[in-house]
Amino acid sequence: MTYVVLENCIKCKYMDCVEVCPVDCFYEGENMLVIHPDECIDCGVCEPECPAEAILPDTDPASEAWMDLNQKYAEIWPNITRMGEKPTDADEWNGVAGKFDKNFSEKPGNTDG
Ligand code: SF4
Ligand code: SF4
Repeated sequence: MTYVVLENCIKCKYMDCVEVCPVDCFYEGENMLVIHPDECIDCGVCEPECPAEAILPDTDPASEAWMDLNQKYAEIWPNITRMGEKPTDADEWNGVAGKFDKNFSEKPGNTDG
């Protein structure tokens, strides 16, 4: 069991989730985060903290399409343990449809730098 970061994190990247995770299992891309499914202890505290409602448990069918992406990039991107500065336009991107196709970036982030 794990929690999964969904499409709506893209370009929102508020990072409130990072602050509450007891096992630091978030990994950072240029414009979104993912959860490492082998490290998440399924505590659930991050889900209500996300202003973009972009985190769900893997028991929710809506998470299924994003599971592989979380697994893949958690092994490529750097670990993130503290909240950085959220993008200035994060609120404008919250809820925008089709962000994966248009805006997903494979590049790593560097908040913990
Ligand atoms: S709080 Fe939500 S939108 Fe922000 S980085 Fe975490 S998962 Fe993404
Ligand atoms: S469910 Fe718990 S352990 Fe898993 S990512 Fe969220 S805060 Fe971290």
